[in-house]
Amino acid sequence: MVNWFEKRCLLAPDHIAIIDGDTGERWSYREAEIRACRVAGYLQSHGVAKGDRVALLSRNDVCYFDLLFACGKLGAIFVPLNWRLSANELRYILDDCTPKAVVIHDDMQTLWDGEASPYKVISISDAEYEAALQSDISPAVTEQVHSSDPFAIIYTGGTTGKPKGVVLSHASIFWNSVNTVLSWNLTSNDITPTYMPMFHTGGLNALSLPVLQIGGTVIVSKAFDADKTIELINREHCTIILLVPTMYHMLIKSPLFAATDFPAMHTFLSGGAPCPHTVYQAFVAKGLNFKEGYGLTEAGPNNFYIHPEMAAIKIGSVGKPMILNDIKITDSEGEETKPGEVGEIMLRGGHLFESYWRLPEATAQAFTDGWLHTGDLGRKDEDGYFYIMGRKKDMIITGGENVYPLEVEHLIRQHPSVKEAVVVGLPDDKWGEVVAAVVVTLEGSELDEEQLREYCACSIGKYKVPKKFFYVDELPKTPVGKIDINRIVQSYS
Ligand code: ATP
Repeated sequence: MVNWFEKRCLLAPDHIAIIDGDTGERWSYREAEIRACRVAGYLQSHGVAKGDRVALLSRNDVCYFDLLFACGKLGAIFVPLNWRLSANELRYILDDCTPKAVVIHDDMQTLWDGEASPYKVISISDAEYEAALQSDISPAVTEQVHSSDPFAIIYTGGTTGKPKGVVLSHASIFWNSVNTVLSWNLTSNDITPTYMPMFHTGGLNALSLPVLQIGGTVIVSKAFDADKTIELINREHCTIILLVPTMYHMLIKSPLFAATDFPAMHTFLSGGAPCPHTVYQAFVAKGLNFKEGYGLTEAGPNNFYIHPEMAAIKIGSVGKPMILNDIKITDSEGEETKPGEVGEIMLRGGHLFESYWRLPEATAQAFTDGWLHTGDLGRKDEDGYFYIMGRKKDMIITGGENVYPLEVEHLIRQHPSVKEAVVVGLPDDKWGEVVAAVVVTLEGSELDEEQLREYCACSIGKYKVPKKFFYVDELPKTPVGKIDINRIVQSYS
C-alpha cells in the first residue's frame, strides 16, 4: 500500500506517466520516479522527516506528483494549498498545519509575500526546485512508513465553515485508487486530462492517482478553457475526464463541441456539485457516455458507479456503491430508510479519511460505528440506484414542509431560457423559510417571474414553487467552481 508508485514504475518504466498539457513535455514512469527521489533527497537535506508537513502553492503542474510521491518516500505529509485563497485565508491554513517546507511557484510569489509569509519555513522557489531536480541526491534510508501513516492533508473548500484539514492515510489513498480502477474499469491505456485543481480531491485523488496506479497517463493543465480542452482531448487521444458541472456548461457552449465526436473518449464524468440534466442531455445527444459521480474529500472521494446505459434510464442517479465501499441512507434516528425515502448518505470503506487535522471532536462526530456522516441527503430507489438530494443544511423547511432545493433547481435549469439557477431557503417571518430561486437567463431571453412560476407549478407541488425570484448576470462560485450558496443566502436574506 505504501509507495506503490515506485513499484508501478518498475512494471512499465518507459510508458508515459505525466504530460504537461501546456508545454507538451512528457515524463515516463522512470523519469517521474527519478524526480520524486531527487525531491525527496532535497527535502531531506532541508531536515524534512517523517510526520513533517510539506506544503505546495502552485497551479496544476507535474510538481504535485513530485512532491506527493517524495513525501510518501519520507513519510512526510503533503499539503496542497488552494492558491485562489486570499493571503489571510492561506495564513489560517498554514497556522493550522505548520509546515516544515513550502514549495512556491514563482507566479504565486505575490500571494506568498502577503500575509501568508511570516511563517518560518523553507520556501523553495522555481529556480531552487529545478536545481534540485538536476542534482543527484537520493533520500537516505528513512524511518519505516506504515499504511496507516498520514500521506496528505487536503483542506476542504470551506463551503460549510472554516476549512478543515482532511488527513488521508497511505491506505485511504490506496483504497480509493484500487476501488476506482476496479469499479470504473480503468486500464493502462487510459489518458486523462486534469483541469480540476490539484489542491482539491477532484484534481488529485478522483482520477489522477487511480490512473497512475493502473499505469495510465495523466495530463496536467494550468487553467481550464473550453476550446483548448477539446483540442487537447483530441490531440492526446484522451479517454476519460472529470470536470465540475460549470466546466461542462462551458464545454458544451464551445463551437468545437458540436464539431467533434471525441472518438477516443469512453467516459465524461461530472462531480463535485449537482449536474444539470441539460448538460447530461447534450452529451447523450452526441452518443457519448456521460456519468455523474458523487464524492467528498473525506471519502476518497469516489463512491458510486453507474453503467452508461443505466444512466440514460435512471436520469439523475449517481448509481450504486462501487465494489469496495458500502453506502446506506439513514433517518434522524440512524435507522436505514425504505426505498424512496430521503435521509443522510452514510459511507463505509477503506477509502475513508483518518481524521480532521488536530480536531479530535470533529473527527469523532463525523463517524458512527465506522460509518461516515456525509451531511448530504440522498435516496435509493426500488432497484438500488441512489440519487443525491443536496446538503442536509440546505434543505428548506417552509410552513413545516420539507423542500429539497435540488429538485426545484433541476426543474428550473431545464427551462430553455435558463442558463443557470440555484434554489435556496431565505428566512421568513410567516413561513419560517421561503423557497427562493436565483436565476441567470440566456442572453436575449425575456423570461419573467410569472412565466417561471407557472412553469414550475406545472411540475411540482405549490409549496415547492419559489415564492421569490431574483435575476442576476452570474452566480458567485467557490474557488473550485461550485455555486457559493452561503454568499447567495447572505446577499438575499
Ligand atoms: P466543506 O466541506 O468545507 O463544506 P465542500 O463540501 O465543498 O467544502 P468537498 O469535499 O470539496 O467539500 O465537496 C464535497 C461535497 O460536494 C459533498 O459533500 C456534496 O455536498 C457535494 N457534491 C459532490 N458531488 C455531488 C453531486 N454529484 N451532486 C450534488 N452534490 C455533490
